[in-house]
Amino acid sequence: MKQQLEQIRTTAIAEIAAADTSLEEIRIKYLGKKGALTAILRGMGSLTPEERPVIGAVANEVRNDIESALEKRGAELKKLSLARSLVEEKLDVTYDAIAPNAGHIHPITRALERMTEIFIDMGFSIVEGPEVETVGNNFDALNAPADHPSRDFQDTFYITESTLLRTQTSPVQIRAMRGMTPPIRIISPGRVYRSDVADASHSPMFHQLEGLVIDKGITMGDLKGILSKFAKTMFGPETKTRFRPHNFPFTEPSAEVDVSCFVCGGKGCRLCKNEGWMEILGAGMVHPEVLRAGGIDPDVYTGFAFGMGVERVAMVMSGIDDLRLMFENDARFLKQF
Ligand SMILES: [Zn+2]
Repeated sequence: MKQQLEQIRTTAIAEIAAADTSLEEIRIKYLGKKGALTAILRGMGSLTPEERPVIGAVANEVRNDIESALEKRGAELKKLSLARSLVEEKLDVTYDAIAPNAGHIHPITRALERMTEIFIDMGFSIVEGPEVETVGNNFDALNAPADHPSRDFQDTFYITESTLLRTQTSPVQIRAMRGMTPPIRIISPGRVYRSDVADASHSPMFHQLEGLVIDKGITMGDLKGILSKFAKTMFGPETKTRFRPHNFPFTEPSAEVDVSCFVCGGKGCRLCKNEGWMEILGAGMVHPEVLRAGGIDPDVYTGFAFGMGVERVAMVMSGIDDLRLMFENDARFLKQF
């Protein structure tokens, strides 16, 4: 029996020393309820009273030896696994990070949002209209004579004889006047369509932002004040505005409005094509016929309207000289903004 115990000690300690994962199986195999050592201790009943304490002492010694071997190997294995994970899970904190490929706002949307914000801060509210309009709202109510060149099939996308893709955001003025009572102070941003071939400065679809103010006693001075405030906020506090007489069917008097170049301050540069000025919008006092078409009495109320191309402003602000770049959606181009 003593020999058996010695045998158990030798094989157990050898197995423990060679173990490289869990020691629990080995512990159960030798020290568990059905383990080899336990089996021998159970057989001690057959020993003589003299033999019993001797064998008992050896058995205890073997148990202690196996337990301390388990403990020692357990500690070693723990260290080994820590060392292994330190090597395997090592992070190189100097490794170049992969830049996240986040999307961002398109230059047109950004310009439109900025423009809208400025007018909202001045007390304007947003009114939108449909892109499929009646010929009546798009031309007739806006005082465009029957032979006005903009009505031509060559310039306008007609859907039927009486409906079309709106060529301007101005029909929203008519809708607003018919649906609201003065004072009216609205802007109307949106898409417009013209039958143009795409080139550096034309696109069959583009964006406009329209403004309309109607109240008693509104004058050209109010128009100049609002637009110069807009220009200073949009392009910088040094920005000057210049009104040049023009002719639109829906306003009288009418003006084209330039702003001083915010890059060169008016001296002339590449952006302003050495003009020192950039044309950004058209404006004027709402024509009495247009007020009447909108159901507003021109003897009581006056108003002004203005309209500007959003792409034009976005191009000026981003220094882009070809409109097509805005619509090609080439990620290499868009990533620059
Ligand atoms: Zn300039």
